Amino acid sequence: MRIVCLAAYRRLACALVVLAVACLSTAQVHAQPTGLPSMGAASTSDLSPALERALGDLIIAQGRRDPTYLHDAEINQYLNDMGHRLARHAQGPAPFVDVFGVLDSQFNAFALPGGYIGINTGLIVQSETEAELAGVVAHEIGHVTQRHIARGMTQRRQSDYIAMASVAAALLAALAGGVDVAAGIAAFGQAAAIDQQLGYSRDAEREADRVGFHMLTKAGYDPSGLQSMFAKLMNSAQFNMGRGAGNSYFSTHPLSIDRMTDMQNRTKLLPRSEFQSSDAFYYVRARSLVLQTRERDDVARVVDRLQDEGRRSSGAPRSAAWLALSELAMQRGQFADAQRFFGYAQKGVPDSPFLQRQGAALALASGDANRALTLSRQALARWSDQISLVEIQARAMQALGQHAQAARFLAQQVQRWPTQAPVLYQLMAINYSDANEPAAARRAMADYYILTGALPAALAQLQQAREMSQDFHEQSRIDAEIVGVRERIEQERALLRKFGA
Ligand SMILES: [Zn+2]
Repeated sequence: MRIVCLAAYRRLACALVVLAVACLSTAQVHAQPTGLPSMGAASTSDLSPALERALGDLIIAQGRRDPTYLHDAEINQYLNDMGHRLARHAQGPAPFVDVFGVLDSQFNAFALPGGYIGINTGLIVQSETEAELAGVVAHEIGHVTQRHIARGMTQRRQSDYIAMASVAAALLAALAGGVDVAAGIAAFGQAAAIDQQLGYSRDAEREADRVGFHMLTKAGYDPSGLQSMFAKLMNSAQFNMGRGAGNSYFSTHPLSIDRMTDMQNRTKLLPRSEFQSSDAFYYVRARSLVLQTRERDDVARVVDRLQDEGRRSSGAPRSAAWLALSELAMQRGQFADAQRFFGYAQKGVPDSPFLQRQGAALALASGDANRALTLSRQALARWSDQISLVEIQARAMQALGQHAQAARFLAQQVQRWPTQAPVLYQLMAINYSDANEPAAARRAMADYYILTGALPAALAQLQQAREMSQDFHEQSRIDAEIVGVRERIEQERALLRKFGA
């Protein structure tokens, strides 16, 4: 969303623009796009879908170690389910999308190369309905399906691309340093200096609106979600005008009025939607508010807001507010309050994995691991597709010293989610470590690092595992894994060289 995804981007979002530009500098220096470049132009250029995906993998690998990347199974699974539901209705084959939360209270969302889509917690918190949030996700998927990054559909002129390419090179060089998180952040910070100057072209925005609207409608969400999000953005733009450069965009881009009119016209043509926000939306929204709240002053403000909502509203919004308050109290070690708020949250709503996870987490945090295990087992029997419940059950088993059982349980679960939940490998490593199987522990950590993109760290773990192992067959397997990781590191280096880093 031009106004959304490029208004105030920092860190990850900068990488999008910088890399979009880097791609251009390599692939399309002589072909400044005007209007809409054809879809074919991108696929025949240097930036093939496979290369774009490889670049996206590289960026997200760094991004996952950024402190603002949200490592929360509940929220990320919700966002991903929403993304997949929308992407299934894309025209043509469903694109790869991976939607993740970003801990940032600013209203923002962005698409990175390769189908990675970041949604700020601030955007989730400010969504009034699920359809508004889905509208933004659909718009971002629109940028993905239309390959706007690869097609170079940004607003800058060619001379700027070349200038930006040198920034991209600096960014990638810093990222290529690999495990040094601090350097990675510094690199994203440097890129922030140029963030306000770039964006998708107006044509790209319209196209993303159009295909996003199609997906939103076909997936069964209220099609007015996009339009009401636009209205909200424009109001917030007026409200924020002059306060922070990120929002100055709005004052100079009246096109968003055209876009809103366009969405209004499209919505009018459709029958009135019966769509209602799911309960999950309210729980995810309230949880996002709690997770993005760090400062002491903010906590007091958020507590007031949630208590007000808990008293004023009914149904899932009321329950979600109390559940979020319970989470906040638990984080601060106030277990009696956390339990009381949890009791309020359970009243008058159907049971849900969100409630059950909090019940188990609360039991675990207050030292009753037996109860945590019982609750998480019961919940998982009912909602077997919830990674957050798997996580809490494994933690409860570990707290009870049931490491062998936890190891078996986790081994089953990683078969189901081989790549979606890196934390499961971390938990496995703890089991192996406690069971005095140091080589296996290191291999599990290597899997964790591979999934989170820290390849040099993965290599180090595998090398240690190789030295510790006494078993010939295991050594052979580790050797093969080492070769695989080395190849991937080499591929990454080649990619970085290709883009000038
Ligand atoms: Zn956009």
